[in-house]
Amino acid sequence: MLNFNLQQLGSALRAKKISSIELTQLYLDRIAAFNPALNAYITTSAETSLAQARSADAMLADGIAQTLTGIPIAQKDIFCAKGWRTTCGSKMLENFVAPYDAHVIAQFNSAGAVNLGKTNMDEFAMGSSNETSYFGAVKNPWDATRVPGGSSGGSACAVAARLCAAATGTDTGGSIRQPAALCGISGIKPTYGTVSRYGMIAFASSLDQAGPMARSAEDLALLLNVMTGFDERDSTSLQRDKEDYARDLSKPLSGLRIGLPKEFFAEGLSSDVCKAVETAIAEYKKLGASVVEISLPNSKLSVPVYYVLAPAEASSNLSRFDGVRYGYRAPDYTDLADMYEKSRAQGFGAEVKRRIMIGTYVLSHGYYDAYYLQAQKIRRLIAQDFTDAFKQCDIIMGPTSPSTAFKLGEKGDDPVQMYLSDIYTIAVNLAGLPGMSIPCGFGALNNGNPGMPVGLQIIGNYFDEARMLNVAHQYQLATDWHDRVPQGL
Ligand code: GLN
Repeated sequence: MLNFNLQQLGSALRAKKISSIELTQLYLDRIAAFNPALNAYITTSAETSLAQARSADAMLADGIAQTLTGIPIAQKDIFCAKGWRTTCGSKMLENFVAPYDAHVIAQFNSAGAVNLGKTNMDEFAMGSSNETSYFGAVKNPWDATRVPGGSSGGSACAVAARLCAAATGTDTGGSIRQPAALCGISGIKPTYGTVSRYGMIAFASSLDQAGPMARSAEDLALLLNVMTGFDERDSTSLQRDKEDYARDLSKPLSGLRIGLPKEFFAEGLSSDVCKAVETAIAEYKKLGASVVEISLPNSKLSVPVYYVLAPAEASSNLSRFDGVRYGYRAPDYTDLADMYEKSRAQGFGAEVKRRIMIGTYVLSHGYYDAYYLQAQKIRRLIAQDFTDAFKQCDIIMGPTSPSTAFKLGEKGDDPVQMYLSDIYTIAVNLAGLPGMSIPCGFGALNNGNPGMPVGLQIIGNYFDEARMLNVAHQYQLATDWHDRVPQGL
């Protein structure tokens, strides 16, 4: 059962080979056994999950089940889920119980899926290693001395360790793709505006986008079918017809033009990652694709631009955590201003404070034009690079991350090194494009042990998710990297 994909799980449930209660209990037992070491989940509630499973079993018995009915899905703890503690990885929200469902949660609920629990994440989704969580670091299931990536590291870990059938994540600068790469799973960030941000705790609103994390592209398509759709409660939600993201999965790849950005294969890329990605590209040529070198000349500016814009938006979004309306309030204070200051000083962790300070600085009078406005202009140029590139190719490929999973604590004192882990993913968010990562091999031997997973990044043009999933699925039919599981799990 643990090796079944979502389609197979759905069929087994509908054929009554297993009940949703049994399947949910199977995962709850695995969480009880493995989560203490991996720390992938912040909150589970067996009672709530099993109650949902019971309703799913009733839908299955009534013959009104949909594709995901009865399937246990882990939800990143950034999504408000009614009655569930929703922490966003922060002390600020340690005891916050959401009074309503995020759009994404509501979509899964109406599909009859089971919420298996809330996964660990970097605090307010700020990080690339899952070490900034107030609830402690998540461990990489392939090697517990290494990071799972971030900020959706709990979801990536839970999928890789088979502590859920699939999971959700959010991606502001790479937080679905980079942890997917580091944990050897598949993940997609759709075009900005495709999945509603309603009830998803905001980090940088012009960049944040939710998406699914799973073991294969085929599974991602089914999850995306549930997650997407217009929602009037999010002003940037796009009004488009519903589509079936699985519709093109079986198309052959002959004639596909793959663009390889020369900037993605230059200095800074570790040789083992480069080798695995090149081998994957060779596989694509065997599948009938052709390759063209392209250039994204402004992509080198994406990290500095992101670290002006994302903190600017974060400083504004996080101003709501003032100790008054919800979240943490300092126990002792002298007056209102002191209460604000102490609540924020005690409730936020170091990385979040760093971002708030940068954001406040770049938005302040006198610096706004020099930093924020300039960054917005370069953002436009970065998007234009992609538009130009897509005149020469159908899809862009490259590494997801410059290296495989690094050691816990390795980049702790050096925020810039940490920020550079997203060098290949951030431009995609700045442009609002869809991007995904799929496993494409393993890196250099790890102290004589097998190497860590490598991710292949696939970037599509706006609304080209169905084609990206097709491109990923055809590769997964020809290879078995996505079927590998960490030892002992
Ligand atoms: N690692 C990036 C950051 O720290 C991106 C995070 C994300 O995508 N949520 O901001």
